[in-house]
Amino acid sequence: MDHQPIVKPPLDQFSVPPNLDNWKTRRAAHNWDAVRAELDGLPNGGGLNLAHEAIDRHANNTPDKVAMRWVTAAGAVEDYTYADMKRLSNRFANALRDLGIQKTDRVFVFMDRTPELYAAVFGTLKNLSIIGPLFSAFGPEPVRDRLQHSHARVLVTTPALYKKVGQIRADLPHLEHVLLTDHGVTVPEIPGTQPLDTLLDAASEEFEIPPTAAEDWSVMHYTSGTTGKPKGAAHVHSAVLGHYLTGKYALDLHPEDLYWCTADPGWVTGTSYGMFAPWTNGVTNIIYAGGFGARGWYRVLQDQQVTVWYTAPTAIRMLMKAGTAVVKSFDTSALRFMASVGEPLNPEAVLWGHEAFGIPFHDNWWQTETGMIMIANYASQDIRPGSMGRPMPGVEPAIIQHNEATGKYEAVVEPGVEGDLAVRPGWPSMFRTYWEDQERYASRFKDGWYLTGDRARRDADGYFWFVGRSDDVINTAGHLVGPFEVESALIEHEAVAEAGVIGKPDPIAMEIVKAFVALKDGYAPSDSLRNELIGFARRKLGPGVAPREIDFLPSLPKTRSGKIMRRLLKARELGLPEGDTSTLEDD
Ligand code: ATP
Ligand code: MG
Repeated sequence: MDHQPIVKPPLDQFSVPPNLDNWKTRRAAHNWDAVRAELDGLPNGGGLNLAHEAIDRHANNTPDKVAMRWVTAAGAVEDYTYADMKRLSNRFANALRDLGIQKTDRVFVFMDRTPELYAAVFGTLKNLSIIGPLFSAFGPEPVRDRLQHSHARVLVTTPALYKKVGQIRADLPHLEHVLLTDHGVTVPEIPGTQPLDTLLDAASEEFEIPPTAAEDWSVMHYTSGTTGKPKGAAHVHSAVLGHYLTGKYALDLHPEDLYWCTADPGWVTGTSYGMFAPWTNGVTNIIYAGGFGARGWYRVLQDQQVTVWYTAPTAIRMLMKAGTAVVKSFDTSALRFMASVGEPLNPEAVLWGHEAFGIPFHDNWWQTETGMIMIANYASQDIRPGSMGRPMPGVEPAIIQHNEATGKYEAVVEPGVEGDLAVRPGWPSMFRTYWEDQERYASRFKDGWYLTGDRARRDADGYFWFVGRSDDVINTAGHLVGPFEVESALIEHEAVAEAGVIGKPDPIAMEIVKAFVALKDGYAPSDSLRNELIGFARRKLGPGVAPREIDFLPSLPKTRSGKIMRRLLKARELGLPEGDTSTLEDD
């Protein structure tokens, strides 16, 4: 599908000059030592500590600048300066130390987006313990699985959320401390828990971060569970180099920005880009505690004068469903850059952004395992709708194929060829293991490449085009079909809100392309609409690629990070077991 590129103006026409002014020269000139020189390092040669670079560095230089503007669902606002964040996280680090929590011990947070969550994350990093974030919407089982698997010693949560933990507590012999907090409200006495505020009140505001080695553990994130059981990807402190540089180049963050990332802190985007990238770049970070809703979200953009916004395809598709007129009834004119991650961003969504906000969404690609954005559309560079963009400076991705003759994976040089998307190891925020599963970790590296598990193409100008996850690619009558192109074609039809496509086993064609479609408000499923959609897709894609079958669903099954779970569509279609559904969104 060819859409016209979105052409960017010359550099002198930007109100804020883009940090990445020229993709080629910035890539050619890249060197991680120079990036290191833009950061601070602990005093006396103590190395890079994520919390120091994100919080204390700015607390020392611009203590009164607002680091976090916390906006409640009701619209109340609380501001926290960098100095406040330093004090709060210092207290938390001291509280951990007072409890005897050591370097590398796992500390999990199971909370909604409250200021205490952020203090806990950075306090844990200051103590060199490993922070593990959980979705607050998780039920007891996913919480138990992750706390058991990681042997967490500390859990920070709220009295309301503890109701889900109490019933599984007996299964968690390693969990020694449950710290309860309720944003200033006195918490009830519950056996087996302690009030966090009491510990914080008793703790000092001063904390000296111990020397931090590049390979000291920092964050542990369970993957989204889109393709199977979530894996515990573990990261290190020197990853901060990548958070900082991608915030600067891929999100174009400048210190004056009012930045809003909509991702839940339970997902890696909520930490890497909800906390680490914005704060290492010294911006004011808007934390919105409310849930999704078109009007509520536009109100945040308007009232908080958001300049840079990072969100996800599912949310964008839901906003599209609510219509362009709703956007236009708010003043979003402060916005100058919008980006998206988590799933392929359909060209239709890129173009809709342009129409509704006057600026396009910039898609970018990365994974829990990569820890940072790897491939991106940049502020200064033209967008090819449907493409994930081009590699970050310092990142070397390639399309690789298995060469049967040599038995090795080799990079494909010529453009336009579909293959496995791989990355040359060595970028700073690369995961260092899957927790307690070194074998699976090792299996992701072959012949000098990290294998991402995604399929893609690269064009002659270096833009990468997502095809699908390796597991999702469909083999129909000898053609390989990526679900993304079929889904993108379907959602160009005015009746379609979202689409998920699978390969359904077939005795003749091996697999046939089957689509599941959720309709926009005002449209009802019918045989004639089904036939119309099949005809529409055939005209766009040709009969070999267009779906042979279409089913209508009220909505598609998704993970809590908003990804369509095609494996579940397939299991349900074939009557097979559903596998791990711990991350399935249930509302
Ligand atoms: P699991 O590994 O548990 O199955 P997951 O892969 O969905 O879950 P994440 O690490 O959150 O967990 O997601 C990374 C994946 O999301 C990528 O490998 C890719 O398949 C998809 N993805 C992320 N961003 C994009 C994008 N811009 N375009 C296409 N796909 C994307
Ligand atoms: Mg994955």
